[in-house]
Order: sequence, then structure tokens, then C-alpha cells
Amino acid sequence: MTISAQENSRLLEAFGLSSDNPGAFDGSWLKTSGERIESINPATGTPIAGVTMATREEYDRVAQTTVEAFKEWRTWPSPKRGEIVRQLGDILRQRKDDLGRLVTLEVGKVLSEGLGEVQEMIDMADLAVGMSRQLYGLSMHSERAQHRMFEQWHPMGPTGIITAFNFPVAVWAWNAMVAAACGNSMIWKPSPEAPLTSLAVTRLAQEVLEANSAPPIFNLAIGGVSDVGEPMVADTRLPLISATGSVRMGKAVGAAVAARMGRSLLELGGNNGLVVMDDADLDIALRGVLFGAAGTAGQRCTTTRRLFLQKGIAAKMKEWLVKAYGSIRIGDPLESGTLMGPLINQAAVDSMLAALEVVRGQGGRVLAGGEAIEGAGYFVQPTLVEIDEQIPMACDETFAPILYIMEFDDLEEAIALHNAVPQGLSSAIFTLNMRSAERFLACTGSDCGIANVNIGTSGAEIGGAFGGEKDTGGGREAGSDSWKAYMRRQTCTINWGTELPLAQGVEFDL
Ligand code: NAD
Repeated sequence: MTISAQENSRLLEAFGLSSDNPGAFDGSWLKTSGERIESINPATGTPIAGVTMATREEYDRVAQTTVEAFKEWRTWPSPKRGEIVRQLGDILRQRKDDLGRLVTLEVGKVLSEGLGEVQEMIDMADLAVGMSRQLYGLSMHSERAQHRMFEQWHPMGPTGIITAFNFPVAVWAWNAMVAAACGNSMIWKPSPEAPLTSLAVTRLAQEVLEANSAPPIFNLAIGGVSDVGEPMVADTRLPLISATGSVRMGKAVGAAVAARMGRSLLELGGNNGLVVMDDADLDIALRGVLFGAAGTAGQRCTTTRRLFLQKGIAAKMKEWLVKAYGSIRIGDPLESGTLMGPLINQAAVDSMLAALEVVRGQGGRVLAGGEAIEGAGYFVQPTLVEIDEQIPMACDETFAPILYIMEFDDLEEAIALHNAVPQGLSSAIFTLNMRSAERFLACTGSDCGIANVNIGTSGAEIGGAFGGEKDTGGGREAGSDSWKAYMRRQTCTINWGTELPLAQGVEFDL
């Protein structure tokens, strides 16, 4: 019996899940009546358990409860809200192992990454607890005598959270921990590819809310785009929609939310480039490329998809990469020692193979990999493609482990190639030359939301603001001052004098 098969029933039991689960929660579990979907283990292609999704009416009920919960939650002092988030972090610490394993079972990332994803949730909880005491506004000096002027931040309101399959629980935590500390209630629409992890997390949140008699702020509606996704995006009761996923999804969501004057926070696809200069420490550059490009089977928004090699080291790096790609251990992601698990489903395998067909037609030469792996599950070979120029396919995000390799003469050329794609999420340069590093980070350097030196493109820490520019959507989540996206700013002026002077010296006396 494979490890996955043994873990299947144990993990379901650990989170109170059965073979058939309701897909909506609004303080209690709804008896949902939408389409039934199966969550498939991508390593075996076999079902783990089923979920009955929410209908449009059931979504509506969850949304109404979320609106009511907000009315109470916003009146809780922010540090008291932080205490609920702290307890959620604690329960995640206690359940880290099981939840990490469930992530691995459901989406196929290797166990250390499944566990790492839960650690990211815990880190986000810790960060948000601190934030709950630091939702600072500024004070300004008024131009009018005996006037005081300041700004304050209020909760934004009930929030819709749409997440992608590849970070099925961490992305919820980026949003939910901060949104809760800021005073927002929320509805989560997870990816239908990863419903079980969302059920498990919601059960943990339910325990914390019930133990504290807190209003139902962490709600869930698993559903399709037409039953849940689109109604949520169009719902004027939700002033903020935070959506993580493909550029295609973000363009639809961004336009729909803007049309109703709502606020959206978009975290979309990337097409991340990594530059290796002749003077780089090639040992760490190689390791950075391997984790960035083949890690998580190329299914990270920050996956390294384009590698720019300076001509002096290009041949050596390519040789090392081809050798290393041949020895990446691919297999059951729950098994220790596995470095690369499967893609999420057959459609992802098909789309990778189709992309490679087009790439060959556009002049790309496959140096390593390039094939699906026969047998159960959705496994593919990590693939290296050499190109002479930035072909059209290299300007698109194929959500699979394909790395395009290009050579360049000087840094100016590399930066120009690097920035010549529609996406702008993550970027990296490997160099020991201070001038090259600073040139890459200058405002005329990388145009991405994340720019690293001697670190790969993936694996960001939560303390920084996470997100990207251009087609990546412009949103920022997690650390720094990202909390401001979840709150509304109010500028207040108090006149404590006996006159009523007008700003800019305007006079209006009878
Ligand atoms: P996807 O766009 O197919 O789906 C993401 C979510 O959006 C799902 O829950 C889906 O049901 C929902 N959705 C799709 N169309 C919608 C619509 N019109 N209205 C409302 N909801 C809709 O993405 P995916 O395949 O699950 O995930 C992979 C993609 O996500 C990649 O492009 C990856 O780069 C991106 N991603 C980005 C980040 C980031 O922070 N920038 C993080 C993780 C993943």
C-alpha cells in the first residue's frame, strides 16, 4: 500500500471529514445542494473524498451571515481581535503535521513544502497579532489655528477571498489573518482543486471562534465560478475582493469589481526571470535555479521560468543543469527524499505538453526532460529549453516545470530581456559585483514587485509585502504596510476653537 493510501483515511478522520462533505460554512455547516466534486490525489489519480458545492442561494446565505458578523466584529478592540488570530496560530502549530500532510495529499507538493505552507500560516498569524496593535494613522499639522488633524483606519468590511490551488491554505492565511486583525469578516472561495484543505482549515477556525464566542467571521463557500465566484465578485455587500490566481481570472475579477466601484487586491501569475552574471557564485546560483524552476513542480507563482546566462558561464551552467535535472527525485510527495511531486491534474500535463509542441515550433531546443511520465498520477519531467531569443511562448506563464534558457552579453541586455514580458512578479540576479546588483535593483532595473540578489525568485518571507506589477495585478499581501488594503482611511479635522476659519483662506461671511 502506498503512503498516500494509508494517509488518506487517517487524515480525513483527523479533521472530522468524511467521504462526502458539505462545502459551505457560516458559523455552522450548511447542507449544501450544488454539484458534487471529488478531490483527487494528483500523485495517484484516485479520489480522496467528495464535496457537495454551494449553490448561488447557499452562497447568498453565507454572504448575509458574513455581513451580520462584520457588524459585531468591527466593534471588538483590535488587540482583542488579534487574540483570536493568536489562538488560530496556536491551533495551527498543534495541527501543523496533519494539515501539512493533507496539503501534500491534495495538491501534490512535497512534504517539506506542505509543512512549510502551514508554517507560513503560523508566521502570518504571529505577524497579524502584532499588526493588531499597530494599525497606525498619521497626525498632521492643520493650517488653521486651534484645529487638530489626523487620519485613522477603520475595517473595510466583509471581504471575499478567492484562492488558487497551488497554495491552498497559505494564501487564505495571508489574507485572513490580516483581514481579521483589521476587523473584517470574510468568505473564502477556494479552488475546486483543493477543497479538503479549505474544509480542514475552516474546522480549525470554527474551534477557535466557538471557544471565544466570537461572531462567524471565517466563512467558506466552495463552488464553481458561476455559482460562487461571479456572484461573490459582483456582490456589493463585499467592498473588498482579494483574488489570487491566473492573469485571466484577475482580468475578469478586476473589471467586475471596478464596475461596481469595489476594491480589489489582485495577486496573479508571474513569469519570473533569474540573471546569472559571469562573476556569480555558480554553486549557489545553480541551487537557486534548481529550487526555483523544478521545486513545487513549477507550480508556484514565483517559479523561475526564464534563466538569463552571461556568455562566459553559460556553457558550464547548462551542463550542470542538464546533469542536475537528470537526478531530481520525482515520486510520491509524501515519501521522504522526493524533490518533485506531480502536477495538479491531467489538464496541467496536457497543457505542458502542448506548450512544448509550440515551443519546438518557435525554435526552442529541449535540453532535458520534455515528457510526461507514464503510470499513475500526473507526473512530468522537469524540462530545460534553450532559446536564442525570447520566443512568444516564453512570454506566457505555463504552470509547469519548463525553464527557458537564454544567453546575453551584458547586464543592460539582460535587464531589457528580463522586463520584456507582460508579468512582473519576482526576479533575481546572481552576482558578486556590487554595481551589477545595485543596477538590477535601480528604478531602471527589474520592473517586478520582488527583486532578489543571490537568492532565487521563489520562497518569499511573509515580513515583506508580497505581490507584483503589470499583469501580475499590482496587489500586495502579507507584511510591511499591506494591512492598509484591508482598511479604509478616514481623515479627521477637529476644530476646538471659537472661530470657523476655512482652508486656503477662503472667506464666506455674510
Ligand atoms: P485560476 O485562475 O484558474 O483559479 C484561481 C481561483 O479563481 C479559483 O478559486 C477559481 O475557481 C477562481 N476563479 C476563476 N475564474 C473566476 C471568475 N471569473 N470569478 C471568480 N473566481 C474565479 O488559478 P489556479 O490554476 O488555481 O492557480 C494558478 C495560478 O495562480 C497561476 O497563474 C499562479 O501564478 C497564480 N498564483 C498567483 C499567486 C500570487 O500571489 N501572485 C499565488 C498563487 C498562485
